[in-house]
Amino acid sequence: MNTLNNQKFYIDGKWVTPNSVQLLDVINPANEEIITQITIGNEQDLNNAVKAAKDSFETWSVSSIEKRLKLLNKLRDIYQKRFDEMTVAITTEMGCPKDFSSDVQTQSGLDHLNDFIEQLKNFNFENKFNEKSNNYITHEPIGVCGLITPWNWPINQIALKVIPALATGCTMVLKPSEIAPLSGILFAEMIDEAGFSEGVFNLVNGDGSGIGTFMSGHPDIDLVSFTGSTRAGRLILQNASRSIKRVCLELGGKGGNIVFADAPSNAVRDGIRNVMSNSGQSCDAPTRMLVERSIYDRSVEEAVDEVSKMKVDSPENSGDHIGPVVSKVQYDKIINLIELGIKEGANLAIGGSSRPQDLSKGYYIQPTIFTNVTNEMEIAKSEIFGPVLSIIPFDTEEEAIKIVNDTEYGLGNYIQTSDIEKARRVAKRLRSGVVYINGHSMDSGTPFGGYRQSGNGREGGKWGLDEYLEVKTITGWV
Ligand code: NAD
Repeated sequence: MNTLNNQKFYIDGKWVTPNSVQLLDVINPANEEIITQITIGNEQDLNNAVKAAKDSFETWSVSSIEKRLKLLNKLRDIYQKRFDEMTVAITTEMGCPKDFSSDVQTQSGLDHLNDFIEQLKNFNFENKFNEKSNNYITHEPIGVCGLITPWNWPINQIALKVIPALATGCTMVLKPSEIAPLSGILFAEMIDEAGFSEGVFNLVNGDGSGIGTFMSGHPDIDLVSFTGSTRAGRLILQNASRSIKRVCLELGGKGGNIVFADAPSNAVRDGIRNVMSNSGQSCDAPTRMLVERSIYDRSVEEAVDEVSKMKVDSPENSGDHIGPVVSKVQYDKIINLIELGIKEGANLAIGGSSRPQDLSKGYYIQPTIFTNVTNEMEIAKSEIFGPVLSIIPFDTEEEAIKIVNDTEYGLGNYIQTSDIEKARRVAKRLRSGVVYINGHSMDSGTPFGGYRQSGNGREGGKWGLDEYLEVKTITGWV
């Protein structure tokens, strides 16, 4: 892996030595070893990057769509060429098993590139209000954007922000997660190679209390797009209020998965795999499985059987297995919540807080299922963000809807039934940005985001471009 730029920042079209001298170890969660160190930037580093972005906005904001498309196509080619490096970076920085890392995590960056290129080709930036009107509506780039991303789907989140910001003519400073910064550094190298004008894209590494906070408060940053925890989202919103910048938030979740008695035969096993993949570290993971009481016992048996077949193993090995969780902090948090679930009186059906056998190093956690959980228990309320599922019985459709909606979050919910009318009826009543019926995935170009404390933004497709645009009405156009 290229480590040349790990301690540098990408500012104004160059890899520069930071002003800050503070270093942070990047740890491989599979073996707890230090991979490299990054620099934790200070306020001066951010100011330098914001100045570069502000200066370049003058020209990039009025660049032609043709030019932007040409550069984005070039970026796509470079991404394809360096695809395997990206997979290695993601596997190493956050412990994602290498096949999943390649086929799903790295692939997501390419998919977003392809989709936003298509969206940009077809996006209507200017239009007359209507045939009779002399008013003209234009969509203009909002300005300098501060982009803050998490570690769990590192390149997916970076791509969902950087590419639409580039496409709409915004300039930006990216701050990837300090826990998993390598994919962000590699992506910056690709942007450099693609030849975007100096200052359009800048990368500064740092932590939330430093660079993250300077970003949300910075008077010359017009928009902050943040993906991460609801805790940090709240702080960003408060800090951004002084400068009234636009704040787009993609936050946590506690998805419900309603398995009706007439669910397809693979419903429970699919639900289990959905929770456990990426070691349970997905914001829209269906971590509360609601099972209709008439099939409850059979479903629990199936769920336990499915988990008993899952292997926890090193991410360096091929195949479909569960890797470690990202860090010691996350490991301790998840283990404490598993122990809390036992104390709260939930039944530990499989898994638990002890280490998986044969793995003496690394942040590995056994996939765990709690049964007979009630929605009042902490394990049913908190976003555990690990391979832990709670199974909750229900008796009626109405009760299932009530339980799913009884959460502060509203990101992704799931329905399993063979009755499409029932599925549609229930889907419309679930308070979340996405509802997945019978495991159908989202098409590329559809919007993703949350209700309530899962955030206020929509990423992907045309909606993902809208977030970076101001709308202007000009009268007397004709
Ligand atoms: P986190 O909130 O700890 O950190 C996310 C990013 O925010 C990091 O870059 C961090 O440095 C920065 N940050 C932390 N505190 C900050 C502050 N006060 N001001 C500015 N920046 C700050 O989250 P995480 O642990 O990296 O990621 C996991 C969380 O992300 C989970 O809650 C998950 O649900 C959420 N997530 C949401 C989505 C979505 O689309 N809704 C997608 C992926 C992850």
